[in-house]
Amino acid sequence: MLVVGGGAAGIMAAIEAARRGRRVVLLEKNRRPGLKILISGGGRCNLTTTRSGKDLEAQYGTRRGRFLRHALRSFPPTALRAFIESAGVPLRAEPLEKLFPVSEKAKDVLDALLRVCEEAGVTLVREAAASDVVTRGGRFVATTAQGAFTASSVVLATGGLSYPRTGTTGDGYAWCRAFGHTITETFPALAPLLVDEEWVRDLRGVVVDGVDIACVAADGRETLRRRRPILFTHKGLSGPAAMDLAGDVEEQRGAAQARFDFAPGVHAEQLEREWLAMAKEHGARRVEALLPRALPERVRAALVAAGGASEETTLAALPKSTRRSLLAAVKDLRVATKKSLGYGAAEVTRGGVALGEVDAKTMESKLQPGLFICGELLDVDGPIGGFNFQAAFATGRLAGLQA
Ligand SMILES: Cc1cc2nc3c(=O)[nH]c(=O)nc-3n(C[C@H](O)[C@H](O)[C@H](O)COP(=O)(O)OP(=O)(O)OC[C@H]3O[C@@H](n4cnc5c(N)ncnc54)[C@H](O)[C@@H]3O)c2cc1C
Repeated sequence: MLVVGGGAAGIMAAIEAARRGRRVVLLEKNRRPGLKILISGGGRCNLTTTRSGKDLEAQYGTRRGRFLRHALRSFPPTALRAFIESAGVPLRAEPLEKLFPVSEKAKDVLDALLRVCEEAGVTLVREAAASDVVTRGGRFVATTAQGAFTASSVVLATGGLSYPRTGTTGDGYAWCRAFGHTITETFPALAPLLVDEEWVRDLRGVVVDGVDIACVAADGRETLRRRRPILFTHKGLSGPAAMDLAGDVEEQRGAAQARFDFAPGVHAEQLEREWLAMAKEHGARRVEALLPRALPERVRAALVAAGGASEETTLAALPKSTRRSLLAAVKDLRVATKKSLGYGAAEVTRGGVALGEVDAKTMESKLQPGLFICGELLDVDGPIGGFNFQAAFATGRLAGLQA
């Protein structure tokens, strides 16, 4: 059996197949497999999440979550955790339901996986970029510079298009297409957003939390809303919440807006009533007193400016029109965001092999018996928080159990 691509999904598929006695050859383009594991989570590897069940599935969206149901139920985050801990790498939970190695070293995760791979008897062939995977005489043939490899079944785990410098240049799409598969349009996802607004650039370095940010489509529909940290940068917006929006922003093809709600716990009408009550009681206070205390001072100043108010204005002297525009700045501030920083900065790829053409219980192609497709090569992506490795390991495992 052949596995093409030595990332999370391919390594897991190879381990499972070898453990049940298959002779497994794992072809990896780079000298070092699992490069993305190594650089993940800022070198610390956010391996998976503490979320579970329906809540876990929902993180991938309805359609993708439904496809992943079997994979995630048969190999949930608790099972991935137990697997990696039994390989000698204890994990611990951190904010945003993330699980990391206690050692804080992604290298420990990769070393453990490669050790298990070796113990299971997998033959790892490094620097073996497959240029083609086809069928010949009823067998699969992968062509590499080190020669041709043949097998009765093949697992494709070549990843997507993000971070191409790590070896993922979308090679698997062409092979799958040649086997008759549909490749849904791909977009960079989990990347910082480009925003060309002076007030955003002026806030570079500032982090806000407890603020909602949403992707708004051209027709005004909100496609995704997140309440996680947002980092203002010299190019636009980063941090988990902004990066989570990137796939949706890209799908809007230049028409997206990012909408902030700086006081997400309270309705606009209620907030205005509170402001009016405050103005009655403390008329001498400056307008900035209306803004949520939890926001950094520079953000509060930016909102006062965005609302068209002067910092000197007192609550008693605040005209209704300015109060309303300040309310809009706090509850519904929009900035155009045409795109993300692209594949070079994207942690994952949205889109890929169409899910309807792959058996969700085995990862086998419904079009080509013996062909298995797993990991990011599939049309599957999740938000920041260990969800992408979780999907890659769980789908890779299913492929390895059957291929
Ligand atoms: C900077 C960064 C940080 C990330 N951090 C996290 C995180 O903390 N948590 C998380 O859950 N996710 C994270 N991700 C996402 C995660 O890395 C991916 O979702 C995951 O690696 C996908 O696994 P995969 O096995 O499907 O593909 P990949 O890991 O991309 O592996 C594909 C492998 O196939 C090889 N390959 C490609 N083409 C060929 C070919 N023609 N022949 C042979 N081999 C080939 C590649 O060299 C690569 O080794 C991060 C991604 C990036 C870029």
